[in-house]
Amino acid sequence: MKKNEKALVVFSGGQDSTTCLFWAMERFEEVEAVTFDYNQRHSSEIECAKTIAEELNIRHHILDMSLLNQLAPNALTRDDIEVKDGEGGGLPSTFVPGRNLLFMSFAGVLGSQVGARHIITGVCETDFSGYPDCRDIFVKSLNVTLNLSMDEDFVIHTPLMWLDKAETWQLADELGAFGFVREKTLTCYNGIIADGCGECPACRLRKNGLDEYLKVRKEQ
Ligand SMILES: [Zn+2]
Repeated sequence: MKKNEKALVVFSGGQDSTTCLFWAMERFEEVEAVTFDYNQRHSSEIECAKTIAEELNIRHHILDMSLLNQLAPNALTRDDIEVKDGEGGGLPSTFVPGRNLLFMSFAGVLGSQVGARHIITGVCETDFSGYPDCRDIFVKSLNVTLNLSMDEDFVIHTPLMWLDKAETWQLADELGAFGFVREKTLTCYNGIIADGCGECPACRLRKNGLDEYLKVRKEQ
């Protein structure tokens, strides 16, 4: 039974947020999506998100967040900075301080405007790669703050919070979206849809999870 309420999904066109979109569509009568445009290294990310939203017949909001680049030039937005994992426990070069705080806050403002009480985000603590604003405790704290700041009754949902990458593939499969997510989403830092370049950290993480899940799937 779907809830007769509206949900807003924070949506990048990647594997995680697309899985969240399907998760939301199964639970809520009305689903809209919001994508933040901050001059991502590849505008193909925005195009990919647009295409998916169109195909799923989801009302899609694209918000200009280019001011983020003024605050935090980093590997996701600048071509001259190399994408790499955090070394020696440091933050990865893709880290933008406060990015998720800003995105979630803007999602709250938009949610308030379009009457969406439920906000869904694909953040995940299991694959915690040093992003403090992807932690469960942060999301819970922000939920309280958003409600207090706008006198709203938001519920922030994080369906992927405790899943690893293989379990995220499994969730997509359970939602009947395995093929869709595999073929149409963009995770690769080099802007290549589906299986991607196979070389960048995002591709490697995606592939490891997929291989692990495919093994489990075969055994079933
Ligand atoms: Zn890649």
